[in-house]
Amino acid sequence: MDDSLENLQNCFKQLRLTETAIELPNLFRKAEQESWTYRELVQEMVQFELKKREEKSIEKRMKWAKFPYFKTMKEFNLSDQTSISRRQLDQLKEMNWLEQQFNLILLGPPGVGKTHMAIGLGIEAIQKGFQVTFVTMGELINLLKTSEFTRKSQLQINRIRSSDLVIIDDLMYMAMNQREANLFFHLINHLYERSSIILTSNKSPDQWGELLGDEGISTAILDRLLHRVEVIHMNDDSYRMKHRESMFENEGVQN
Ligand code: ADP
Ligand code: MG
Repeated sequence: MDDSLENLQNCFKQLRLTETAIELPNLFRKAEQESWTYRELVQEMVQFELKKREEKSIEKRMKWAKFPYFKTMKEFNLSDQTSISRRQLDQLKEMNWLEQQFNLILLGPPGVGKTHMAIGLGIEAIQKGFQVTFVTMGELINLLKTSEFTRKSQLQINRIRSSDLVIIDDLMYMAMNQREANLFFHLINHLYERSSIILTSNKSPDQWGELLGDEGISTAILDRLLHRVEVIHMNDDSYRMKHRESMFENEGVQN
């Protein structure tokens, strides 16, 4: 039997324990230095592989999510956002609502942090093991319309349909025609009681009806979206405006 380290590493690779295969020399060195028992050594190997797999899985799901940018909940400043308490935010971050298929609606004018919060919660969800997809309403309608004949759109729609959390950003910035509303209804109906949705919008749900057009479809969509929902009104001054950068060193006019 070839008892070289290289051969052992190859065996690990054949068993698809690639990360541990690479790490083996380090693990053996540490085992010697710290006089690990056999059991400790095996435990360290297994833990190492599991940790690497989880890291890879998170990385993969982060890519999948297609976030437009990465902003975490840590970077979300509560002193700038009085519409939500620390306790409520912590509860949202725990993600129990996701297991109960609750939806979350973030309302407010531009610049108050709706998209930031949606992305931040999306990242938290991924770290907790969930599958997340981010899509703007405009992109979503486009994907739904093209998914019948474009494989790329079909794949993206399948990802959305199989996600635990779907973030739909900027709902209702445009009016939908009957076909679009129909396609949107079918998606919402599929996600209903299967996944959670975070919607951001600068219009309140009572204004959504007119943008969805057909009254029957619009009621059906709203029923499902609002059945189990937490609505957060983020109405503070625009964070962008408050924290905007100035070309001038001092804001006031001098002389
Ligand atoms: P909205 O989606 O409501 O239009 P965004 O989420 O795009 O607003 O926020 C605009 C900018 O302000 C982003 O760069 C975001 O990171 C920042 N921002 C908004 N609210 C906060 C906050 N409470 N803490 C930290 N950054 C914030
Ligand atoms: Mg936004």
